[in-house]
Amino acid sequence: VHQLADPACGVDELLRSPLHLLPASGLPLPRDLFGPARPNSMGVDLSVRRDRDALLQARQTAVLPTVAEASADDVAAAAQRSLAAAPAWRRRPVTQRAAVLRHAADALQNRLPAFCALLVDEGRKTWPDAVAEVREAIDFLRYYAVEAERVMAPVNLPAPWPGVTGETNTLRLHGRGMWVCISPWNFPLAIFVGQVAAALVTGNTVLAKPAEQTPGVALAAVGLLHDAGVPSDVLQVLHGPGETVGATLVAHPGVAGVAFTGSTAVAKHIQRALAAKDGPIVPLIAETGGINAMLVDPSALPEQVCDAVLQSAFRSAGQRCSALRLLCLHEDIAERTLAMIAGAVAELRVGDPARIDTDIGPLIDAEAHAKLCAQVERLRRHGRPLWAERPPRDLAVPHVQTPLAFEVDSIAAVREEIFGPVLQVVRWSGDAALVIDDINALGHGLTLGIQTRIDSRAQALATRAQVGNVYVNRNTVGAVVGLQPFGGEGLSGTGPKAGGPHYLPRFCVEQTLTVNT
Ligand code: GLU
Repeated sequence: VHQLADPACGVDELLRSPLHLLPASGLPLPRDLFGPARPNSMGVDLSVRRDRDALLQARQTAVLPTVAEASADDVAAAAQRSLAAAPAWRRRPVTQRAAVLRHAADALQNRLPAFCALLVDEGRKTWPDAVAEVREAIDFLRYYAVEAERVMAPVNLPAPWPGVTGETNTLRLHGRGMWVCISPWNFPLAIFVGQVAAALVTGNTVLAKPAEQTPGVALAAVGLLHDAGVPSDVLQVLHGPGETVGATLVAHPGVAGVAFTGSTAVAKHIQRALAAKDGPIVPLIAETGGINAMLVDPSALPEQVCDAVLQSAFRSAGQRCSALRLLCLHEDIAERTLAMIAGAVAELRVGDPARIDTDIGPLIDAEAHAKLCAQVERLRRHGRPLWAERPPRDLAVPHVQTPLAFEVDSIAAVREEIFGPVLQVVRWSGDAALVIDDINALGHGLTLGIQTRIDSRAQALATRAQVGNVYVNRNTVGAVVGLQPFGGEGLSGTGPKAGGPHYLPRFCVEQTLTVNT
């Protein structure tokens, strides 16, 4: 745990950083922006922030890079370079590769404000989400450095019989070869860096394809890793849509593994494409979406539920795969809790991500917004709205969706993941275990919230749930690297969990070395 980025470190760096590190705004971040919190309903301090509005209002629009789409020839050339660079990188001692990750972590920590500005400008993140994401990326770098040294250390195994000498057995892990890492726009830094760092530190080369919406964040991260000591052919980035560039990468005969975070449909598409190729069986690590539920029993504290729901369903505009989509409220507590949630939602500031007092920023782009609007239209026909929709505060900011909630008839009626600040609510009575069974039957298995003051019930329900991350009496987002290894099962992914002790071995082949001495 002590290896993880200390939450206070980021703030210190923020305060020490020279001004020129803020490319977009050219302005310093206010000194107390992330100072001692007097949390509002979203857990962030608004009072300090209001004083600083003027600073951030003055931000200029960032000049973000435009990138060319990689052609099939570009992919082929990059793969050739990657395969040529692979043996030397794999032969390097793991301690050297881990040192490179640590250098990158230090550099990222030093450039925290610059990366935050990029995440706000290109990733449309709020400032608190941006800071949290940079810290998560730093955590991934430091954690995988430590983990690589642990899991790649040769393991001496016993001789076949007690007392037998003349034979040694050793188990060793090596990189598999050339990995394709395909990452999403919703965590354009943390997930990008997490995948790439895991593959690199275990001795693989990487062809990374970041989301089309966030090429600038990826370019900045790749620059940082190159500067930290990753040879340019060992890590290359190829930009463009998944349908073309992603598909060409996955189809390349030299690919030794694919790490993908995105939709379930695309993960299955990649799995089919890998299976259809001649040659070796290629592993896929897929982290996909979820129809994540929170079960609230009659003993739960409505205030705690309210805070957890706001954080889980609406923070980051619901654009997290871990976000809460389905709130299952016991009927005895439902009215009071819903009234509290509606009141708290009315207090949220929804709009411009560049303003430091914004709680909920916009959706990433027009396509995401259009998809969300179509889903909301369907919900309006089948569900009962729990509060009246209010216009966002910053009308000039595009693709903003104010939080919405609809009561629906049953858990089984919830069919699709809605990637935005839109919550569905069902009331239940009777046996909580049957509610968990209905949630399990949805087939996803990423996060689950349980709100109860009865410990034994929380334990029993958590055991019954087929999900990767269960959170009791708190929100369901923001898994911490090393502390809350993250990832799901079923339609939500293949595992292993990112930021957990079993992640790195999946990037490796194992070799048993038996020597007759
Ligand atoms: N790890 C993030 C969390 O715990 C979610 C990652 C994602 O949305 O893909 O909230």
